[in-house]
Amino acid sequence: MTHRDPRLDSMSFWQHDYGHYSPNGPLKEDLKVDVAIIGGGFTGLNTAWQFKRDNPNARVVVLEAAVIGFGASGRNAGFSTRLFGLEPEMVLLRWGKQKLIDAHHYLDKAVAHTKDLIEAQGLQSDYRHTGMVRISYSGKQMGRLQKTHELLQQLGIAGDLTWQDKSRVQQDFHSERFTGGIYESNTGNLNPCKQVRELKRLAESAGVSIHETSPVTDIERTASDIVLKTPGGKITADKLVVATNAYSRQVPDTRRLQNRQYPLWTYQVVTERLTAEQWESIGWKDRQAFGDNRQLLHYYRPTADGRIVMGGGNAMVYRTPAMDEVSSPMSWQHCEAHLKWIYPQLKDVRIAYRWGGPVSVNVDMVPEISFVDDERIIYSGGCFGHGVALTHLNGRTIADLLDGRKTELTDFWIVNRKSISMPNDTLSFVAGRVARRALQAFDWWEERSLQGR
Ligand SMILES: Cc1cc2nc3c(=O)[nH]c(=O)nc-3n(C[C@H](O)[C@H](O)[C@H](O)COP(=O)(O)OP(=O)(O)OC[C@H]3O[C@@H](n4cnc5c(N)ncnc54)[C@H](O)[C@@H]3O)c2cc1C
Repeated sequence: MTHRDPRLDSMSFWQHDYGHYSPNGPLKEDLKVDVAIIGGGFTGLNTAWQFKRDNPNARVVVLEAAVIGFGASGRNAGFSTRLFGLEPEMVLLRWGKQKLIDAHHYLDKAVAHTKDLIEAQGLQSDYRHTGMVRISYSGKQMGRLQKTHELLQQLGIAGDLTWQDKSRVQQDFHSERFTGGIYESNTGNLNPCKQVRELKRLAESAGVSIHETSPVTDIERTASDIVLKTPGGKITADKLVVATNAYSRQVPDTRRLQNRQYPLWTYQVVTERLTAEQWESIGWKDRQAFGDNRQLLHYYRPTADGRIVMGGGNAMVYRTPAMDEVSSPMSWQHCEAHLKWIYPQLKDVRIAYRWGGPVSVNVDMVPEISFVDDERIIYSGGCFGHGVALTHLNGRTIADLLDGRKTELTDFWIVNRKSISMPNDTLSFVAGRVARRALQAFDWWEERSLQGR
């Protein structure tokens, strides 16, 4: 009897819905390459493709422990968003005005880059450039959202944002819960599992070698090269990219990465397909995505086949490595209840699938692309729940770094910065729980006028 690796089973709705997928075989020989990449998600595959395009004669290999898109890249909600770290106010407070503006421009470029890539390469990932509305439910949330809008206007980065009052959002979404929002037109959403597997196709067509079910179990560095061991063979590389995001704590011989980020689990649900009458009852004709401006935000989007994917509202800190799957019935119940609180019209709609995944969080609350010890090893992490567009552009940025090129992208301030180290595991766990409680309390306070409604 053959033993099936449980990590190959469907983990998200997108992976499940994709249908049959045959992973590439594991590495079964020893190879010498120019660039090795650990991790077959958006970061790893974009980097591989961009670098190989720039250097057609280079030998480039991607090693993925499970299957392409096993991690956050195959599980996320698919928002190609400009969100960066936490709220803009937090980035402003911690990093200052100019860095907030620069981050906005990088993310603006990231969304455009992702859209252009999909269009130019004909990637079949159900991309829709329909924008997103940031919604408020209470007077307090709306006051804060208005202040955010004013801040972005003062900084000159509110170009595509429009304020929408209560009657406008209720007219669009047919939900009495909405009191106002900001519409940003220049963002989109996609099917993440289709996208990541299209990126695999693209990278392979350029000549990148991809090995799935090939966990890197050991990394050895010498003055001349870097040797990666997997169960079936080893790779000797000139340069290495550690594209493991929330899984970075378990990558061997990256002690310096151990305390740079922590996996935080978030959860999502998807409904069954809505009937034409159900869609009619909730409006939402333009099929734009929306999210609320709570601290523990909820996000909503339609799928190409007429369902609603929604998630958030809670986030869990665990002491286990990110690779261990952890379910959270409480979070799923919360998601379903929130969907039906917004849309009582959908009270009989069934939840068809539930899943979750780890996002990478660090103390500074912003992403990093950095060198580990020397410039031969590049690490990317700390993308929070906003890595879809970001990791696509990061792939371009990392390809420039691998080539030793100084470009506008490599000048972005998250490049070659080192996030502050986390305290030990127990303290990080406790700090994570305390932070979660504080955010929950903040949301309770802003929404207390809604209780019982
Ligand atoms: C539930 C959820 C919802 C999200 N929603 C959104 C959203 O709507 N919009 C948005 O912008 N962002 C969202 N994100 C965040 C976004 O998905 C991530 O930031 C992004 O996908 C990270 O991509 P990555 O390639 O860096 O990492 P990953 O996709 O996590 O890839 C890392 C890979 O490394 C592999 N790996 C780990 N260790 C090893 C090893 N030792 N050897 C070989 N391979 C290894 C893993 O198996 C994994 O496949 C969400 C994330 C989650 C979890």
